[in-house]
Amino acid sequence: MRELEDKIRTFGKALNEDVLLVDMFLNHQVDCELMDHIGDEFARLFADAGITRVATVEASGIAPALMCALKMRVPLLVLKKSASAIMNENVLQTEVFSFTKQKSYLLTMKQEYMLPGDRVLLIDDFLANGEAALGASRLIEQAGGIVSGIGIVISKSFQPGLKRLREAGYNVKALAEIAGLQKDHIEFVPEG
Ligand code: 5GP
Repeated sequence: MRELEDKIRTFGKALNEDVLLVDMFLNHQVDCELMDHIGDEFARLFADAGITRVATVEASGIAPALMCALKMRVPLLVLKKSASAIMNENVLQTEVFSFTKQKSYLLTMKQEYMLPGDRVLLIDDFLANGEAALGASRLIEQAGGIVSGIGIVISKSFQPGLKRLREAGYNVKALAEIAGLQKDHIEFVPEG
């Protein structure tokens, strides 16, 4: 997606060889017009997948996922990174190792927000090692949903997540693919 790549080129910062900072428009301050266009693009890419629900992992996935769910006219389910005291009935959980925090958390959802056979489009901001997307898919499937697509805003395709998800049989699409990072340099996989 050209507009997204231009934003990454202009405002993205390679912190080191592993981490890209895009908090000027995606993770901290949010460019709502860009999110609107990202929603359109995901809705177009997964138009034929019969999606009945969009799901994401809090917190950075919410902005693009909300716009996508709005465009597709389906509900949005936000998977939580921890269970709160008011959320203790009929919850499903799975352990996920966090790329940014380098520790595990319990991804949590209420069973009641998934219908049996729901066709779910999972949206997330970044794909690195694939732990978040694989954990979210596990939870969705445990709840009776079918992961019918995975939409990623930025895939760092030099890390193993994309390959792992595709090998597991998921239909994954990324709006921008990063081939490599060096301090202050971002290399893209050419759009194909
Ligand atoms: P994974 O589970 O695929 O290893 O990592 C994906 C999650 O880690 C995403 O949900 C995202 O929040 C975070 N993440 C991974 N890589 C980056 C990165 O380069 N920059 C930022 N800002 N977040 C990242």
